[in-house]
Amino acid sequence: MSRAPLPLPVLHATHAGIWLLEAAEAEAREASRGEAIGRLAETPHILLNAPVAGQRLGYGDVSGLDLLELFAFIHPARFAVPTVDGMARAVGLAEPTNDAEATALLRQIAEELLAGMADKNWPEREGAWSANQTLWRLGWGWGPFVAERLQKPERGERMLFSRLGQWEESGERPAPLTVSIPGDDAEARLESLTGSGSETRAGQRAMARESAAIFAPRPKPGEPNMLLAEAGTGIGKTLAYLAPASLWAERAGGTVWISTFTKALQRQLDGEGWKIVPDADARKKRIVIRKGRENYLCLLNLEDAMQGGFSGRAAILAHLVARWAAYSKDGDMVGGDLPGWLPSLFRRAGATALTDRRGECVYAGCPHYRKCFIEKAERAGREADLVIANHALVMVNAARGRPDAPSRIVFDEGHHLFDAADSTFSAALTGREAIELRRWIVGPENKSRGRRRGLAARLLDVASYDDKGGEALEAAVEAARALPSEGWLSRIAENDPFGPVERLLGEVRGTVYARAKAQEAGYGLETELAEPDSALIAAAASAMEALDSLARPLAALSRRLEAVIEDAPDWLDSAARARVDGAINGLNWRRETLASWIAMLGRIGSSADPDFVDWLAIDRVEGREYDVGLHRHWLDPTRPLAKAVLEPAHGVLVTSATLRGSEDWVRAEERTGAAHLARPASRFEAASPFDYSANSEVLIATDVARGDTAALAGAYARLIEASGGGTLGLFTAIARLRSVHARIADRLARAGLPLYAQHVDPIDTGTLVDIFRDDPHASLLGTDALRDGVDVPGESLRLVVMERVPWPRPTVLHAARRLAGGGSAYDDRVVRARLAQAFGRLIRRQGDFGSFVVLSSAFPSRLLSAFPQGVAVHRLPIDEVVERVRARSAGNGSGETVAKLDEAPVIE
Ligand code: SF4
Repeated sequence: MSRAPLPLPVLHATHAGIWLLEAAEAEAREASRGEAIGRLAETPHILLNAPVAGQRLGYGDVSGLDLLELFAFIHPARFAVPTVDGMARAVGLAEPTNDAEATALLRQIAEELLAGMADKNWPEREGAWSANQTLWRLGWGWGPFVAERLQKPERGERMLFSRLGQWEESGERPAPLTVSIPGDDAEARLESLTGSGSETRAGQRAMARESAAIFAPRPKPGEPNMLLAEAGTGIGKTLAYLAPASLWAERAGGTVWISTFTKALQRQLDGEGWKIVPDADARKKRIVIRKGRENYLCLLNLEDAMQGGFSGRAAILAHLVARWAAYSKDGDMVGGDLPGWLPSLFRRAGATALTDRRGECVYAGCPHYRKCFIEKAERAGREADLVIANHALVMVNAARGRPDAPSRIVFDEGHHLFDAADSTFSAALTGREAIELRRWIVGPENKSRGRRRGLAARLLDVASYDDKGGEALEAAVEAARALPSEGWLSRIAENDPFGPVERLLGEVRGTVYARAKAQEAGYGLETELAEPDSALIAAAASAMEALDSLARPLAALSRRLEAVIEDAPDWLDSAARARVDGAINGLNWRRETLASWIAMLGRIGSSADPDFVDWLAIDRVEGREYDVGLHRHWLDPTRPLAKAVLEPAHGVLVTSATLRGSEDWVRAEERTGAAHLARPASRFEAASPFDYSANSEVLIATDVARGDTAALAGAYARLIEASGGGTLGLFTAIARLRSVHARIADRLARAGLPLYAQHVDPIDTGTLVDIFRDDPHASLLGTDALRDGVDVPGESLRLVVMERVPWPRPTVLHAARRLAGGGSAYDDRVVRARLAQAFGRLIRRQGDFGSFVVLSSAFPSRLLSAFPQGVAVHRLPIDEVVERVRARSAGNGSGETVAKLDEAPVIE
């Protein structure tokens, strides 16, 4: 097939300018915003990432021939950084040296991608022709160009649903054997994992030995072997615990759960798997990633979307997702092999509706049950040696007493255990939560996107078989109509609520507006649940009655379903049984939620429970309300953590580079739940081998005035210029982040220093980090999530800038914990932990270097203990801070140039 050049114009928009390339020309030219918008409206242009281009043009709804969509079609489930450089590399072209070149390159990349379809070894060929026929019909811009170059296959292509493999039924796995792992064996395994000749790391070896002890038989029920291990960055803690864990799993025939907080570490652990099981096929069985079910593609939802459930752009997304699903390793749509940027190209239209977010799964009633990604992952996890999961899933499985609740657990990123427990064991009776419960029971009221059915439809056959079950189901559906329905938010805003729960939410809203102290303009409002007025008390009592009337039939239904399982009728084959089991699980989960709501309402007007912190809140974004409700958190969430997760386990290791930080071990025991166990946890620590004092320094600017956004933006711009990019900028307020970004992004882009920002760029956080990691000249601004979750070793991150001391937000929850935790000393501990985390982004591996800058002169000296010992701290005017950053960058971190600067007088 001949290869004709693409007769298409190109548009490339960055913060530095806008470039156009005409269809018949080879050289791009700069254009004005107005011209570019006009041209786009006339003719479809090739562009890269339409939402980003639209934002650069200041024109929301840009459409065109998006190169990223073409890439996702031709190479589904392949990773590529969604920048011109990243795309060029993905197709084997050289990276451009300027924006005009980049513009021309976009067309070349498109041509290369399309030409690649002629390669007879193109691995993702199957399904492409059929998918393109449908996409073309749906109006996908690339459709005709793909069709022109893609030959119709000689034989009919297999549909997605016939391509996917099935899981096999297997018997229950026997309980693990009782074996101990001697320290010598753990060390020997570590050696085989690291490979002979690798540098001997004493800390790593010691940690492997100590970690082995958690696999010994526990002495008593409720008393797990627990180890708290603070392992400084760079000691190689991952292999130190994987060595004994993999050994125990092999010898005992059991599963060890490795739990992380961030997806980045989950991915990194998955990447280490080959060291433990070199054979790829065996590895798939023995090391399994598990996430919450809301992360995975639901094939039934996808089928519904492809068969008319979705329309317009959402339907195009569904077909691109179907292309991906056929090649995906595990169907994980969030952080798996679906490019994180794909859903954002469609402004997330429909992506979440393709997952099973709210438990509408019909299990064995689903035609794809045997191919379902969620079922596959769950089953694979039961047979695996190592399950790589996250804290939330481990806690939820343990708390719900699931059969696959983990008995041997390694919590990596253990400093997040407290926060993970805090959200897992909390309750929220809000409008959004309540309407979801209503939909789960009643079904959707209007014609809405996706396949959603009510409980009655899902349990039709059981209800018709069992009269009492049918009655309970009917009663539950009737009672659920008292919950909020579509339009609840505007009804309560207009003081026209419908039903007891909406009335309650109306009272909550009124109380919050009357009492709350305004926080960051336009964002959340809250007030403690104290001294409620009579209207709120009365509304809570009626809402409680309504919820109770719902809880009773749900409990009866659950009992009837259990009876059906016990006294199995003929038609209850294993598939139907799985479906009833699934329904019981779903019901129990909702019943627990209802019980927590009822308990929370029961406290309104009576005395407070000292174990809990309750408050009322209105959630808002930029002044727009999107939820209203009541919240309850444990004052100390490690109590339910210890009860539900730690006590039932046999062995638990909690590890982190900053588990203890500058505090004593007692704090680490309090934050991990170890303090609530009858038997004390063992302790281990190994210091980082990195020379922080030679490779890093802390610089506190003394003259950037608080509240002067222009000065703040100026400081950021100068620092980023001085380090030549490679900067992670951390903010404590979104509004300030946005105004700094708006002031400096264009200026930096013109200097060849692209600036990306969370809450500004229409790109998901994971992709922003990928882009940042990929380009040593790029910088990234963000808030909390970046402080903890960015693992960017090497040159791409050499400067961290914090605009202010990250004091905790003065929320109701924080005030309660502060009071219980020693007042300002509690705040200091929180801030030190945050600073240690932020500093930790800087030096990730041997050879890394960088500066840590704080742009706030009000930085108390007592917080300096957050930084590693020996790191120099200088309080300097911003001019000198900039010079030091420039010097460290120029000296490649050797500290040589900085040493010279040290000879100058330093203002302390
Ligand atoms: S079994 Fe459930 S989650 Fe899986 S595809 Fe079917 S409905 Fe979706």
